[in-house]
Amino acid sequence: MLYFSTNKSSKSVNFREATITGQAPDKGLYFPEFVPKLSENFLKNFKSMSNADIAFELIKPYVGDEIPTDDLMKICSETVDFEIPLKRISDKIWSLELFHGPTLAFKDVGARFMSRCLRYFAKQIDKKITVLVATSGDTGGAVANGFLGIDGVEVVILYPSGKVSTIQELQLTTLGQNITALEVAGTFDDCQALVKQAFMDSELNENLFLTSANSINIARWLSQQFYYAYALKQWNLEELPVISVPSGNFGNICAGLLASESGLAPKHFIAACNANDVFTKYLETKKYEIKDTIPTISNAMDVGNPSNFVRILELFGHDFSKISEAISSVSISDSETEQTISKVYKNFNYLLDPHGAVAYTALEIYLENYPNEAGFILETAHPIKFLDTVERVINQSVEIPDNLTYLLKLRKNSTLIKPNFEDFKAVLLKS
Ligand SMILES: *Cc1c(COP(=O)(O)O)cnc(C)c1O
Repeated sequence: MLYFSTNKSSKSVNFREATITGQAPDKGLYFPEFVPKLSENFLKNFKSMSNADIAFELIKPYVGDEIPTDDLMKICSETVDFEIPLKRISDKIWSLELFHGPTLAFKDVGARFMSRCLRYFAKQIDKKITVLVATSGDTGGAVANGFLGIDGVEVVILYPSGKVSTIQELQLTTLGQNITALEVAGTFDDCQALVKQAFMDSELNENLFLTSANSINIARWLSQQFYYAYALKQWNLEELPVISVPSGNFGNICAGLLASESGLAPKHFIAACNANDVFTKYLETKKYEIKDTIPTISNAMDVGNPSNFVRILELFGHDFSKISEAISSVSISDSETEQTISKVYKNFNYLLDPHGAVAYTALEIYLENYPNEAGFILETAHPIKFLDTVERVINQSVEIPDNLTYLLKLRKNSTLIKPNFEDFKAVLLKS
C-alpha cells in the first residue's frame, strides 16, 4: 500500500515512511491509494473473532510487508488489551465505552498502535527518534503512556501551564523514563507554534530525528477503525446501527467512514459537534469556512479547522452529495450538553462525559426523525476526566476509580519554560 499526500505535490510513500514522518513534506495528510475491501469470509466471521485478530485483519492491507506478520500481530494484541464494551444506556441508545485504556480516553487505541509501530521502525534507524507533542490535555497523556519505556524513542510533551485538568497534568508529568514534560508559560497555540518551529530548525533536524504524534499520523488514524468492528460485533439488533461520533478534528469519524467503505457499514453516521460547527455548517451550505475556536465544556472538540476534513473529501471523491448522504451533523450547545448529562444520569443511572453527552444529544435528535432506528454513541473519555463539570451538573460528588487514586498521590515532574524557541531548543539539544 502506498500513501499519497492530499496536497498532491509530495511523492507517495509506504506505511513505514508515512508513520515515521507524520505529515507529508508539502504539508498535506497521507491517504491510502485505495480502500481495501474486507473479504466475505471476514465479514461473515468477525463476530466470533478475538479483538486482536480483528485488528490484525483490518490493518494488514495498510501495513503491507513493512512489519512482519508476527510483530504486527503482537502490536495488535498489545494495542487492544483492554475491554471495549458496548453498553445499553436507554431504549434505543447504546454507548461504546472507549475509556477503559490506561489514560481513560479513546486516544489510547491510536497512540498505543502508533507507538508500537514506531518502536518497530526505530530499530532500523541509527538515530534516536524524538517525538514532539503539543497537547491541550488528552493527547499528551495517551501518547506519553503509549511510548513509555520504548527503547530508541524520546518523548517531549508541551502543555500550557494551568490550562489542563489536575488528572491530565499528573498523567503527563509523572511517568519519568523516556518522557519529558515541558510546562509552557503560555497557551496551547504557543505550544503548537514551538513544535512547528522545531520541525523547521535545521540545527535541530541535523542533531535529532524529530517526528510528531498528532492525530494526523496514519498509524494513529487507521487503527481507530478497530473499535468500529468491535461495536458491530456486539450489536445484536437486526437493523444496522446509527453511529454518533463526538467530533473535533474528525479523525475518529473518518476512521469509521473508512471501515464502512471497506465493508463494515452501519446505517448512518452522525458528526456530533459542539459550538464549533464548521462541519455542520458545511453540510448546510456546501461552504467550508474556517472559524476561530470557541471554548466549550467538551474542550477536546474545540476545533475551528478540523484537520481530517481533507480526508473526508478524499474518501468521497470530493462529492458533496455522497458526503451528505453518509453523514449528518448537528451542533449542540453547552447547556444542551449539561441537560443531557443530568437527564441521562437521573433517568438511566449512566454518567456521560461532556463529549459523549454531545454525541448522545445528537443521536436523540436524529432518532426523533427516524423513530424506527437505533444506534450507539462513541463515549470517548471517562467522565472522571471532566470531574468539575460532571459534579457540578449532577450536583453530587463522583467516586474516583481505583486505577486513578494512585495518580493523585504522585508529584508532578515538569520543566517550566517560557514560550520562547531558544529555550525550547536548548532543552531538546540537551535531552
Ligand atoms: C480528541 C477527542 C475527541 C475528538 O476526536 P477527533 O478525532 O479529533 O474528532 C472527542 N472526545 C474526546 C474525549 C477527545 O479526547
